[in-house]
Amino acid sequence: MSRTGTDPYLPGHGDVSWTVSHYDLDLGYKLIGNRLDGDATLSCQARADISAMEVDLAGLRPSKVFVDGRTVRFTHRGERLKVTLGRQLQAGTDFTLRVRYAGTPRPTPSKHFDTAGWEELEDGVIVAAQPHGAPTWFPCNDRPDDKATYTVRLAAPNDYHVAISGELLGKRRAGSSTTWHYEMRHPMPTYLATVQIGRYEVLEQATSPVPVRVVAPVDRPRDGFQGAFGDQPRMVAFFSERFGPYPFDSYTAVITDDELEIPLESQALSTFGRNFMEDDWGCIRLVAHELAHQWFGNAVTLRAWRDIWLHEGFACYAEWLWSEESGVQSVADRAAHHHAKVTGDHGPPLVLGDPGPELMFDDRVYKRGALTLHALRTTVGDELFFEVLRTWVADHAGGNVTTVDFVAHAEAVTGHDLAAFFEAWLFEVALPALPT
Ligand SMILES: [Zn+2]
Repeated sequence: MSRTGTDPYLPGHGDVSWTVSHYDLDLGYKLIGNRLDGDATLSCQARADISAMEVDLAGLRPSKVFVDGRTVRFTHRGERLKVTLGRQLQAGTDFTLRVRYAGTPRPTPSKHFDTAGWEELEDGVIVAAQPHGAPTWFPCNDRPDDKATYTVRLAAPNDYHVAISGELLGKRRAGSSTTWHYEMRHPMPTYLATVQIGRYEVLEQATSPVPVRVVAPVDRPRDGFQGAFGDQPRMVAFFSERFGPYPFDSYTAVITDDELEIPLESQALSTFGRNFMEDDWGCIRLVAHELAHQWFGNAVTLRAWRDIWLHEGFACYAEWLWSEESGVQSVADRAAHHHAKVTGDHGPPLVLGDPGPELMFDDRVYKRGALTLHALRTTVGDELFFEVLRTWVADHAGGNVTTVDFVAHAEAVTGHDLAAFFEAWLFEVALPALPT
């Protein structure tokens, strides 16, 4: 069985011969010296008959590896930890993998993407792991289609706030450090797990339908902060109406003290830089965009990275919906504007349904993806269109999907034959005209 190359966009990540149902991570972090100590226990199952397994771990050094409590042999080269199980495990066998590791975490480069993963800030930490940065902080099976639940305990100096994807179960202070205990009970792919550490304060914005909060620097600009993030509770309510109930137990926006080039979604948590605190559509749209990823990307996750439009096209369309809802500009006007812009784009040819790793985060994936949804809406009508979105989330939350699944779903819900429609929008280079 081929172990690597489960996804051609991310060669060398993941191993399809085993799967993880739960990650239990015990971490200690020292900001001075950037030192991470980890003890990870993975609840696993063999998916084939295996006597060895490959685990993703980048930059950190494993010291001991245990399988079902017994020490086993391993080698660690590059970003792959190869573990010899010491016996043959039959497909379907449950087992526990424990890795003790430590080192200086740093983001990992790749051929096609910016660096991703654990990164030091001026005075704190950010983990921006999409798409290949998870192995920079924990040993994992780094595939988007291997979702698991998580328990994370992280000890950090007392004067820092630690935000991790999931619900805070408690904090325990001992000497100069505090251990933060988080749990994510909804299945989560490795790249959506995150840790954010900084000198932050917590602002509760709403308690229902789920707690909505911002974790931000104390010296934030009041007007800019309120203008960009003040509407988050209204956005949660609006998107819940359009896409179905918010899929996780809370939503947290972390605003780092540093400026960041782009914001990023994680599960139940999004990260923004200080520069996004402006009362300006350019910031507000990104607040809406990252929130919308909770439905499209995080609850419903692609099975392979070629289907990235199922995340970015949908989140971009959510921006346009919020634009209209909040009285900024109608969806139709935004669609017409971006249709003209994509038409005039002379970048390399792009196939939305398989853009290739080089163009995976090209702006056209976002805009043409949103235009595809708008064209679908115009074709089938508002009522059926939003029924397609709501049932898409309801049917697949916690799971993984493909573009083929979406086409079949849209046809089943609407009763329309959409084969030619999606072929033109998703698999031909030429941009179709918007239906009227
Ligand atoms: Zn996005």
